[in-house]
Amino acid sequence: MLPVLPPVASHGLAAVLTAAVLPLSGPFTPGAPGAGDPYFPNAGNGGFDVGSYAISLAYTPKTRRIAATTRITATATQNLSRFDLDFAGNTIGSVTVDGARARYRRDGGELVITPARGLPQGHEFTVAVTYHGRPGANKDPELGQTGWIRTKDGAVTLSQPVGSSTWFPVSDHPSDKALFSYAITVPKGLRALANGEPAGIAARHGRTTYRWRSSHPMAPYLAMVAIGRFRVRDGRSPGGVRTITAVDPVLTDVNGAKFQRDTAAVTDWEARTFGRFPFRSTGGVADDVDVSYALETQNRPVYPGTTDRIILVHELAHQWFGDSVSVARWKDIWLNEGFATYAEWLWTAAHGGKSTAQRFAKLYAKPASDKAWTIRTGEPGQRGMFDGFAIYDRGAMTLEALRRTVGDKAFFRVLRGWPARFAGRNAGSTDFVAFAERETGKDLDRFFDAWLFTGAKPPAPQPS
Ligand SMILES: [Zn+2]
Repeated sequence: MLPVLPPVASHGLAAVLTAAVLPLSGPFTPGAPGAGDPYFPNAGNGGFDVGSYAISLAYTPKTRRIAATTRITATATQNLSRFDLDFAGNTIGSVTVDGARARYRRDGGELVITPARGLPQGHEFTVAVTYHGRPGANKDPELGQTGWIRTKDGAVTLSQPVGSSTWFPVSDHPSDKALFSYAITVPKGLRALANGEPAGIAARHGRTTYRWRSSHPMAPYLAMVAIGRFRVRDGRSPGGVRTITAVDPVLTDVNGAKFQRDTAAVTDWEARTFGRFPFRSTGGVADDVDVSYALETQNRPVYPGTTDRIILVHELAHQWFGDSVSVARWKDIWLNEGFATYAEWLWTAAHGGKSTAQRFAKLYAKPASDKAWTIRTGEPGQRGMFDGFAIYDRGAMTLEALRRTVGDKAFFRVLRGWPARFAGRNAGSTDFVAFAERETGKDLDRFFDAWLFTGAKPPAPQPS
């Protein structure tokens, strides 16, 4: 099924609508191997739009093996003779399209599928890929392990930006958001958590299947499964948001009750600050996993052993900024990280710490000659995507500078309006500039040009 979206221009939707008015006749041609993102040319795929993923996966920690079937529903956006999915490693048993066996070949990280007959534009089809193997993590030079990551008692998936293809066939670009459901089978005694909400538990032959289902579209890099021994808490925040947290019991420094309470309290505070919580449940997973980052996996961020409140503030802010409103292209990543960093500033200021002005002043004191200013926040290049200064700090500074330029009232209208306006969809920097100008009634081209698109220290903000 396709997510039902309001008829407003968003990148993913615009492509579908444009394609839909073209004549339906014409030749059948291969879909593109990528979604057209220059940072990751092979990420995502062209020629179709995914509606849903149903991932059925059994994991045996002792052998590190999975046996899985992923069923994808998608709609052809052109007359397709063949199409690609992103998929790495593992061994494929079979591929079917609409129930009929399809030919396939593997070409690097691409799984190239040729259905028995062409798929006409507008046709909704189902792809089922059955596979098994020992999935392995990607080694990212900056981030370390991403994708399917083994832990001492199971595994966890952390897939920003392009790790999901290590464990399921996927159109792995945030512009192709889709619904997800999971059936994860593990040996008795272990548990499985995922995005969305629990949808049933069944025990059979010494194994347990945990079902989870999300009811909001999700960028594929946010797909999360955590397998292992967990102490799980399922309750509601004082503000009424269902809160599900899980803690690996070997993490003796993590107080599970406090983690649950903090997650609920931060979610409520952020809902007051940014507007309604965008999903049906919040939460978090604290796992003993060998990575040095937390990730804002939808509904339930994953924390590698540390659950400091300020990290929760950052990852939960991403539920609005990054997860509900997702980047159109990876160059727009400051819309995730700048906002999540600014959420930390706002939280700190509201809880007796430094003011946002103090945070800004300290960072802005960096001399104009410092090389850190040369990375453009709105076009950082693939290697600059997670640059601490250009994306996180300068992203947050851009928001503080905007606040000084347009005033508090207009600024918070923008901050709350943005996740409401683009909820469940994709947006980029140009969308944000246009939105901010419309909400404030000011011409902000020069302002954003200096803050986002110029590799130099921007002028100090002035009220306009
Ligand atoms: Zn972040």
